[in-house]
Amino acid sequence: MYKVIVEKQCGCFKRSGHEGETSFENKDDALLHANERKNEMNSEWCGKHNFFVAEENNDFIIKMGE
Ligand SMILES: [Zn+2]
Repeated sequence: MYKVIVEKQCGCFKRSGHEGETSFENKDDALLHANERKNEMNSEWCGKHNFFVAEENNDFIIKMGE
């Protein structure tokens, strides 16, 4: 089981209605989902935050940069 987790949930996250955590059976699916989600967050959210994907213990964490 691989999880995609949104680490820091800013106001945009709450407005977006996204799930904070999603599970996948397949690692490739999880990575694909993490990257799609990250791109969406970077292009459609407030623009004040910069998101990137980090792999930690079989999970993909969407982290917020400065
Ligand atoms: Zn934001």
